[in-house]
Amino acid sequence: MITPTQIKWPEAKNHINGQVADFQGTTMEVISPLDGARLSEVPMSGKPEVDAAVKAAKEAFPNWSSKTLKERVQVFFRYRALLEKHMDELTELVHIENGKTWDEAKAEIEKSIELCEFAVSMPQIVVNEVQEVSRGVECRIERKPLGVVACISPFNFPNMVPHWTVPNALVLGNTVVLKPSELVPLSAMRMAELLKEAGLPNGCFNIVHGGKEVVEAICDHTHIEAVSFVGSTAVAKLVYIRASSNLKRCVALGGAKNHLLVLPDAHLEMTASNVVASMSGCAGQRCMAASVMVGVDQVQHIIDKMVEDAKTIVPGENLGSVISAAAKERIEKYISEAEAAGAKILVDGRGATVPGKEGGFYVGPTIIDYVTPDMSVAKEEIFGPVISIIRTKTLDEAIAIENSSNYGNAAAVFTQSGALAKVVMEKASAGMIGVNIGVPVPREPFAFGGWNESKFGVADITGKSSIEFWTQNKKTSTKWNPEARTNWMS
Ligand code: NAD
Repeated sequence: MITPTQIKWPEAKNHINGQVADFQGTTMEVISPLDGARLSEVPMSGKPEVDAAVKAAKEAFPNWSSKTLKERVQVFFRYRALLEKHMDELTELVHIENGKTWDEAKAEIEKSIELCEFAVSMPQIVVNEVQEVSRGVECRIERKPLGVVACISPFNFPNMVPHWTVPNALVLGNTVVLKPSELVPLSAMRMAELLKEAGLPNGCFNIVHGGKEVVEAICDHTHIEAVSFVGSTAVAKLVYIRASSNLKRCVALGGAKNHLLVLPDAHLEMTASNVVASMSGCAGQRCMAASVMVGVDQVQHIIDKMVEDAKTIVPGENLGSVISAAAKERIEKYISEAEAAGAKILVDGRGATVPGKEGGFYVGPTIIDYVTPDMSVAKEEIFGPVISIIRTKTLDEAIAIENSSNYGNAAAVFTQSGALAKVVMEKASAGMIGVNIGVPVPREPFAFGGWNESKFGVADITGKSSIEFWTQNKKTSTKWNPEARTNWMS
C-alpha cells in the first residue's frame, strides 16, 4: 500500500569529511515520481568536489586502516541498530524518492540490514593464512585494504545498492567516496548521517552528488584505487574501460534482460504469481526482473492465470511509479512498437494515472503475447512492468533464445521436473539462476553478479567475492631462528 509522506527529508548536499559541504555550481531539481512534487535540489558537482572528497578520504585512511577488523566492525554493529531504529523513516525516503511501494521500500531497507550483517561477520571470514614452510620460516598472507575507493550507484535501489559495497569496503579498511544517482540522492544523505552517529570517523565516508562529470573525475582520479559501478550497460562499459585504462580495479554491473522459461508441467498458481510478481515488482525496475517469458509448448493455462493475476495489480495501490516522465514514455513506446509489429497486448498498462497524483509517472502491468525474438521488446532492456511472451515448441529452442541475449544477469525455469530444471541450470547463459523462483537474488553470504554484458570485471559485487575485490594480499616470509643454516631463501 502506498502511504502519504510523513517525514521531513534531508536536502541533497555533498558530504565531505563528515560535514555537509557548500556548493556554488549548478543544481538539478529532485522530483518525487509518486506525484511530481519537488523534494530537493541536487548539486551537479564536478572535479573540484571529487578532489575534496578524495583528499578527505585519503587523510582518513591511515587511522581507519590501522584499526583491527574487529574494531572496525563495531561501527557497523551500531549502524545496523540505527537502520532498524529508523526503519520507517528510511522506508519512506526510498518510497518518496524512488516511487516504489511502501512494502517494497521496506524490503529494501531489510536487505541493507542483511548486507550489514555480512559486513560485521568479516572477522569470522577474513582469517589470514600462515604456514611454517621450512623449519623456523613462516609465510603469511594478510588481506590489506586498497586505500580510497569509489562506489557509483543507480536510481532503482537508493538504499540497498550503496549497501552492496560501502559496508564491505569500509569494514575491510578502505575509505569511500559514494556517487549516488542524481535522481535519488536523499537516502544516501541519511546513510552518511547514521554512519557518523554510529561512530565512523570523519572522512571515511564521503558523498559527491552529480552525474557524468563526477563519474569521469572518479575514473580519472590518481588517488582512487578501485571503482564499483552499478547501472546501465552502456555506462558500465564506459566506466569499466575508463577506470581500467587508468589502472584501477573495477567491477561494473550493467543492465539485464532476464528470461523465465516456463514448461507445461509448471505449478499453475505458483508460476503465474511468481512471473507476474517478478515482472511488476518495483514497477519492473529491478535488474533481476522478469522481462521475457519463454513459454514452452502448452502453457496457455499459465498465461491465462497470469492475466488474471496482473489485473489485480493497480498503480498507486500495489504498484509504484516508474522513475520519470522519460521512463514512462520509453516504456509505453516499447509496448506500442510491439503492438505495431504484430504482438498481442493481453494486459495494457499504457496511459495509467492515479487519482490525486496526476503529476506522477505510472505504467500499469503489461503482458505482451506472441512476441518474436527479433522484436525490440524481446531484445532490449525495457525497465518497466512489462513482460514479453515468446512461445516455443521445445526446451532447446527456449534455451537458444535465452542464450542469444547480450545480457546475462538472471534466468529462471518453472517446472516440476528436476531433470529439466537441471538442463536449464547448466545451459542458461546467466550469472544467477532460479528454479521456480522469479527473482533469484542470491542472499548473503552468496555473491551477486551477472554474466555477459550484465557485468564487466572479475569479481562479484557482494559476498565473499567482494572481499577479494576490496583488498590486496600482503605476503610476508619471516625467519626467527638465527642458528638455522642459511638456505636459498636467506
Ligand atoms: P544509469 O547507467 O543511467 O546511471 C547509473 C549511474 O551512472 C548514475 O549514478 C548516473 O549518474 C551515472 N551516469 C549516467 N550516465 C552517465 C554517463 N554518460 N557517464 C558517466 N556516468 C553516468 O542507470 P540508472 O538508470 O540509474 O539505473 C538503471 C540501470 O541500472 C538498469 O539498466 C538496470 O538494469 C541497472 N542495474 C543493474 C544492476 C545489476 O546488478 N546488474 C542493479 C541495479 C541496476
